[in-house]
Amino acid sequence: MCINTALYRRMPRTLTCISHYLNTDFFVFCSKMANFESKSKKKGTFPGSNMEQTLVILKPSTIRRFLVGDVLTRFQHKGLIISGIKMMQLDETILREHYAHLVDRPFFPDLVESMTATPVIVVCLKGKDAVAVVRAMTGSTNSRNAAPGTIRGDFGMSGQENIVHASDSPENAAVEIKRFFHPDEIFDYLPCALRLLYAPDEL
Ligand code: UDP
Ligand code: MG
Repeated sequence: MCINTALYRRMPRTLTCISHYLNTDFFVFCSKMANFESKSKKKGTFPGSNMEQTLVILKPSTIRRFLVGDVLTRFQHKGLIISGIKMMQLDETILREHYAHLVDRPFFPDLVESMTATPVIVVCLKGKDAVAVVRAMTGSTNSRNAAPGTIRGDFGMSGQENIVHASDSPENAAVEIKRFFHPDEIFDYLPCALRLLYAPDEL
C-alpha cells in the first residue's frame, strides 16, 4: 500500500477534516490512490503485479566519466522504478558467465579489462514492458550507430565503452538479476506517483 494512503487511512476523522481544509491536494491524492487500489483489488490484481524487471549495469567508463547521475535520471524520468541498486567489483569469472556468448570473440580480453577497471553499478529496474523499454532507451550496441536520444547515442562514441548493459529479453533479465542481486536486495515497493505514470487498465 502506498505510504501516503496508509497514513491517510490511519488519520483520525478530525485530522482528516483538517487535512481536507489545509491541504486539498493531499486529500484528493489519498482518495484517488485508495480508489485506484480498491479497483485493482476487485479485478484480482494489485498495482504493479504485471510489471517486468530488468537488469542494467552502469559500466566502469560511465562511473569514471561521472555520468552515473545523468544515466539514472533518464530511467527515473521515464518512470522506471529502481527495485535494487548497488556498486560491485566484477571479475573474469562472473563476466565469462554474463558474456558467455562472447568468450570466444577476439575482443573478449579487452571487454574483461574494461568491465573490471573500476566497480560497476548494477540496477534492477521495474515497469510495464521494462525489458523492451530499457533496451530501446539504451540504443544500438555500437554507440556511434546508436540513435540520438538513446543513452548510447547521446553519451558514447564506442562499440565497447557503450555506457550501459541492459537485459535483452525477460528470460535473460530474470537470470541476470539473480546473477547480480541476492533476493533480499530487491525491494518490492511502488511509488506514490504510480497513478500518474499509468492508467488503471495498464496495471
Ligand atoms: N562488444 C564489443 N565489441 C563487439 C561487440 C560487443 O566490445 O564487437 C561489447 C560491448 O561492450 C557490448 C558487450 O560486448 O555491450 C556485449 O555485447 P552484446 O552483443 O551482448 O551487445 P549489447 O547487448 O550490450 O548491446
Ligand atoms: Mg547483450
